[in-house]
Amino acid sequence: MRLILVGPPGAGKGTQATRLVEKYSIPQLSTGDMLRAAVAAQTPVGLKAKEVMDAGGLVSDEIVVGIIRDRISEDDAENGFILDGFPRTLPQAEALDQMLEENGLKLNGVLELRVDHTKLVDRIVKRAEEAKAAGQPVRKDDDPEVFKQRLEAYNRDTAVVVPYYEKTGLLSVIDGMQAIDEVSASIETVLQGLDEKV
Ligand code: AMP
Repeated sequence: MRLILVGPPGAGKGTQATRLVEKYSIPQLSTGDMLRAAVAAQTPVGLKAKEVMDAGGLVSDEIVVGIIRDRISEDDAENGFILDGFPRTLPQAEALDQMLEENGLKLNGVLELRVDHTKLVDRIVKRAEEAKAAGQPVRKDDDPEVFKQRLEAYNRDTAVVVPYYEKTGLLSVIDGMQAIDEVSASIETVLQGLDEKV
C-alpha cells in the first residue's frame, strides 16, 4: 500500500502515520523527520536545510525529492510506504509521479486531513507543552510565530497538491478535527474501500 498523508502542520499526519505503520507494517517516510536527522548529524543537506526549517519555510524541491528518491528504493519500502509531509509542492508531486512510474509503481490513495486552520496554533502549543512535560525535546518550529510561517507556506505552496490528486481520483478527505481515534477509524474506512478497489 502506497499512501500520502497531506494536511497543514499540526493536522495529525505524524500521529496517524505512526498508527498506520503498526497496522500495515510499512514504513512512514517523513521528510520532516529525515531533515531533522540530517540537521542533527550536520550533514551537507542538514546544514543547508537548518535555517529554512527554523524559519518555517520550505526546503528546496531538489533536496527533498533527492531524499525521497533514495528512501523509497530501500528494501523496507518495497511493499509500500506512507508519505508524511511529502509532496509539499506541485513540482514535488510531479517528481513523485515520475519516480513511481519509472519503477512501475502506483499510489493507492491520498488522504487529506482537513482541519480548521484557526485551531492549529492551539494544537501546536499543546504539542510543545506535552513534549516538554514528557521530557522530550521541543521542536524549534513548534513556536507560535514560526508556526504562522509554516501555515503560510502550506497555504501558498502545498494546498495546490490537494486538487492535483483530486483530479486523479486518488483523494479522500478525512475530518481531522475529530478525536484521534475517530480520525483513525475514518482512515480505516477509506482504506478498506481502497482494498476492495485494488
Ligand atoms: P514537518 O515535520 O513535516 O512539519 O517538517 C518540518 C520542516 O521540514 C518543514 O517546516 C520544512 O521546513 C521542512 N520540510 C519537510 N518536508 C518538506 C518538503 N516535502 N518540502 C520542503 N520542506 C520540507
